[in-house]
Amino acid sequence: MLQGGNEWRYLKECLESGWVSSAGPFVERFEREVAALVGAQHAVAVASGTAALHTALRVVGVEPDEEVIVSDLTFIAPVNAIHYCGAHPVFMDADPVTWQMDARKLERFLDEECDFQDQRLIHRRTRRRIRAILPVHILGLACDMGRIMDAAEKYGLRVVEDAAEAMGVHFYGRHAGGFGDVGIFSFNGNKIVTAGGGGMVVTGDAGLARRARYLTTQAKDDEIESLHGEVGYNYRLTNIQAAVGLAQLERLEGFIERKRELAGRYEAIFSAVEGVTCMPSPPNTRPTYWLYTVLLPQGTLPDVRRAIIEELGENGFQARALWLPAHRQPSYRSSPAFEIQAADDLFNRGICLPSSVGLDPVDLLRCAETLVQIINRQRSGVAG
Ligand SMILES: *Cc1c(COP(=O)(O)O)cnc(C)c1O
Repeated sequence: MLQGGNEWRYLKECLESGWVSSAGPFVERFEREVAALVGAQHAVAVASGTAALHTALRVVGVEPDEEVIVSDLTFIAPVNAIHYCGAHPVFMDADPVTWQMDARKLERFLDEECDFQDQRLIHRRTRRRIRAILPVHILGLACDMGRIMDAAEKYGLRVVEDAAEAMGVHFYGRHAGGFGDVGIFSFNGNKIVTAGGGGMVVTGDAGLARRARYLTTQAKDDEIESLHGEVGYNYRLTNIQAAVGLAQLERLEGFIERKRELAGRYEAIFSAVEGVTCMPSPPNTRPTYWLYTVLLPQGTLPDVRRAIIEELGENGFQARALWLPAHRQPSYRSSPAFEIQAADDLFNRGICLPSSVGLDPVDLLRCAETLVQIINRQRSGVAG
């Protein structure tokens, strides 16, 4: 699905014009188009989604030794970005129904475990200041941004939305990534819109956008004498990447249609299988089902789930597990976590199924049928 649109034409323009590196017309066009899509005033293109997260946390003012509340069930990048700032993650459980950050638990944590001191919100157990919330929209669904924004306002916290997996996802008619102080996207090869690699910082705040651009271009204050006002980063996106990203972005609605069609086929099969839970479609959300995921029957142990994924692999189908919850990652085992239950259960039972836009419906059907057979065989107690 990489060459059905303007990809070749835009790449050729880059090479012919000589604009191949970290400036050029496609970078600006790509920024404008992503800003328009999200309904944000400003967008700053960067080298990756992870760079976008690091930048976003820096511009909202996350300082060393502060804490950021982040989804426990997530790809590790947002957690690492908190660490890059010298700050500490506080892991928030997933909602068992929507699989996204549990906004009610978040409210309860802020209410029961934190105190205001000199207008700063302090985590009572660690004595550290909590600066921000980092909800991660996972799998092509959306977090409950209504509740999360209300909580942020009540407790004086900044919000950075990780919408890397949520390009095209709407919540109450608004695009994911457009609710918080800053939102981020990724254009890695596995995302719905790819640029080969890349990311975007979006915000409605001109000051934050200016600061994002400054930090990601080595914090340069003077062109002639190369004065750098502080420690910056080389996080720029190249014109070549932006060219591919822009051409892909033009095709987003078609990609979403395909993803939703694949999800519909999976759902038609798995909704008829006893004990299996299909991917949720949370109310007031337009999902993209970026990565279609089902839950094995309640009580399934992780090693059974692993064996099932291996058996699918032996049959030529590439399935995988959800992410190991962040509080169990070796680097973050000592970080605070709030009443984690659902994230562990989703990890134990979740199987992510082939979902690429180019997936042949015949292969989808064969994969789903193979999985149903394995589940039925397990249920009837016949050894594999
Ligand atoms: C892919 C992804 C990222 C990181 O993006 P990169 O471009 O690979 O750095 C961050 N967060 C989530 C949730 C992702 O899925």
